[in-house]
Amino acid sequence: MRITKNSVVHFHYTLNDGDGRLLDTSAGRDAFAYLHGGGQIVPGLEAEMEGKAKGDSLQVQVEPAMGYGELDPALMQKVPVEKFGGQKVEEGMQFQTPDHKVWSVVEVKDGQVFLNGNHPLAGVTLHFSVEVTDVREATAEEVAHGHVHGAGGHHH
Ligand code: ZN
Repeated sequence: MRITKNSVVHFHYTLNDGDGRLLDTSAGRDAFAYLHGGGQIVPGLEAEMEGKAKGDSLQVQVEPAMGYGELDPALMQKVPVEKFGGQKVEEGMQFQTPDHKVWSVVEVKDGQVFLNGNHPLAGVTLHFSVEVTDVREATAEEVAHGHVHGAGGHHH
């Protein structure tokens, strides 16, 4: 069967950025599973999966707007280190503000903390290499829950 709304799709993938750097891969793990049409994968990839079948391989380039979004300059901020109230602040640390936004500390320099609240892959053009390993119809329960059950999905 071909991938359409409410198909359960299993696929293996490798994700590189525009410079060929490896960002993520399912190699060595179980295939990734998702419920098609529910926005569980980035929109640019989901659109390309439509109509594909088990055994298909595809190369997909996804621009930031159809991936993890453009970099939002408003989410790149500089805050005086005193604002952290003596708490230790180091590059690579992450913390959450009360609005549930996750911020990463990019750099601490000259008493200033540089923060990035963008998704780590915002502004990145994504290059996916995908192999569809299984396509089946979702069960009524999976559709109701909005996620895949069993292999590669939820167990509950
Ligand atoms: Zn469920």
